[in-house]
Amino acid sequence: MELTSNEHAQMRVLLVDMSPISRKLMRNILRKQGYEVEEASRGAEAMERLKNEYFHVVITGLVLDDISGSELCSRIRAADLPRYTYIIVVSSNSSIKDLRTALDSGADEFMNKPIMKPLLLARLCLAQRIIDLEAKLKLVEMQSQDLLMKDALTEVYNRRRIQKDLPSEIKRANRYQKPLSLVICDLDHFKAVNDTHGHLAGDKVLKEVAQRLRSHCRKDIDWVARYGGEEFVIVLPETDVNGALIMAENMRQAIEGEPFAVSSSLSLDLTMSFGAAGYNTVPNGALSPDEILGQADLCLYKAKEQGRNQVCFVHCHVDDLHGVN
Ligand code: GH3
Ligand code: MG
Ligand code: MG
Repeated sequence: MELTSNEHAQMRVLLVDMSPISRKLMRNILRKQGYEVEEASRGAEAMERLKNEYFHVVITGLVLDDISGSELCSRIRAADLPRYTYIIVVSSNSSIKDLRTALDSGADEFMNKPIMKPLLLARLCLAQRIIDLEAKLKLVEMQSQDLLMKDALTEVYNRRRIQKDLPSEIKRANRYQKPLSLVICDLDHFKAVNDTHGHLAGDKVLKEVAQRLRSHCRKDIDWVARYGGEEFVIVLPETDVNGALIMAENMRQAIEGEPFAVSSSLSLDLTMSFGAAGYNTVPNGALSPDEILGQADLCLYKAKEQGRNQVCFVHCHVDDLHGVN
């Protein structure tokens, strides 16, 4: 049974340099089935297109004007394209050796001419299965990467995200000449919550703290990570220290402003101390993740020392650090 046209509406096929007649034949078959079909007459042109747009499937002849079909397969595999490209090599009277070379070079399948419509469509269904499988694997990989960087209790990020992404935030700030700030905060007298009400109550508080911090972040720009027990880091890209100070102050008020409902009969009033460090410019290679973390940590230490429940901040210059305020 043939598939109806809509089932392949999303699948894009690149036909490379077959004779105009067989190209037309194949194009007609594929378009009728709902595939989106584009053509390239040479291997180099095919490579250019593949680098700029995604095709699920490439169908190529073994003999092209410029490079061989096998060479095209090798180049596609070497290009490390973001998604898998399923390659079908089409040939007439090719030797077993040629076909073997094409498969060794990265082709997934070969078909002999003349092309039989049911066989071509069956090969494309197989291509679809492989591409769907790859998409599922990619999704699982992304989800597990995400899970690895999440804190199980609070569901914000963990230290791994800081290790992985703080260096790239610094690089980006330098490349685009943007400011960058970082806030470290720590619950005040949290040990007493555990000691008095138990660890489960403490865990509930930590979850709620993380959500309150997160709710004050800009979506898809700032990110919160649990740094340690009751300490969190908030990375604020494109934000100078004045912006960081405002955000930290809002967060401080969000913790202090509403009691934490641990159970129907127990609400706790809690406070949090904040340290913020901000750089207006980040010279190339001059700022390490530990340095910005260290500056924010000094501020946090000062906030604790000065009586807790407050924000201390520092406007940092790479070679001329201002004092903590
Ligand atoms: P300070 O104001 O100086 O920060 O005092 P503090 O009591 O908050 O700080 P301290 O470092 O003395 O205690 C931190 C407490 O955080 C001790 C530890 O039991 C608790 N803690 C760390 N991780 C967790 C966790 O995952 N769950 C719970 N419930 N408690 C935790
Ligand atoms: Mg604490
Ligand atoms: Mg602490």
